[in-house]
Amino acid sequence: STPPLELTLVVAATARDMGIGANGGLPWTGLRKEMAYFARVTKRGDGNAVIMGRKTWDSIPPKFRPLRGRLNIVISRSFVPGLPKDPAGGPDASHVEASSLETALEYLRQRRKAAGTPGSGRVFVIGGAQIYAAALGLADARRVLLTRIMSDFSCDTFFPLALGSPTNAAAEAMADAPKWVQRSRAEHAAWIGEEVPEDVQTDNGTEYEFQMWERVD
Ligand code: NDP
Repeated sequence: STPPLELTLVVAATARDMGIGANGGLPWTGLRKEMAYFARVTKRGDGNAVIMGRKTWDSIPPKFRPLRGRLNIVISRSFVPGLPKDPAGGPDASHVEASSLETALEYLRQRRKAAGTPGSGRVFVIGGAQIYAAALGLADARRVLLTRIMSDFSCDTFFPLALGSPTNAAAEAMADAPKWVQRSRAEHAAWIGEEVPEDVQTDNGTEYEFQMWERVD
């Protein structure tokens, strides 16, 4: 049966200041195991969707997009307003174009009436900063799969929520701010459907760890 439409944000961000991007691309290179984790987790199960902003879509090399095995939804103000249309050849063939996050979610709600079809599985918001911010403004955003990058990189784009960093204390002090808590490794593993390594990972000299955060209000 079709699970409720809830959003899981997937992001890799620096521990120091939640940096996610530089000059239109990723601040780091060669995080091969991290990229493989992203691919496995967003593909696992049937009919998953990935939602991204137009700039993130542009940052993916054309030969790697749409991201395989997932319904890709791209958001741009330049796309036709209203309920998005299926692409020619069906939603598996290319990407769906939505003029807002809200119309993307409306499209997915329609698709979810039929179990097993593209868009009826888990829904991941995969960036960038503008689309994360739009998603975090909706009550549907329940979870963040965070790759916490220990090494520091110079960034010009930042994840708009401080998870586990010192500035979070100020946000948590606001009575109406949503509360985010880090889940245990066992809970994280159960949700993604694979073991989560306990130790710090290293790719290409960069240290990072996999975390899962959930909204508890
Ligand atoms: P986004 O990918 O969020 O795309 C922004 C574009 O999305 C806007 O220019 C606009 O498209 C469209 N858009 C934004 N808000 C809305 C809205 N409310 N309604 C309709 N359309 C909207 O861009 P960012 O610059 O924020 O992020 C890109 C950066 O993030 C890159 O450096 C990328 O590499 C990085 N990144 C990092 C990730 C990580 O995990 N570390 C993951 C993903 C990206 P238009 O201009 O066409 O109207």
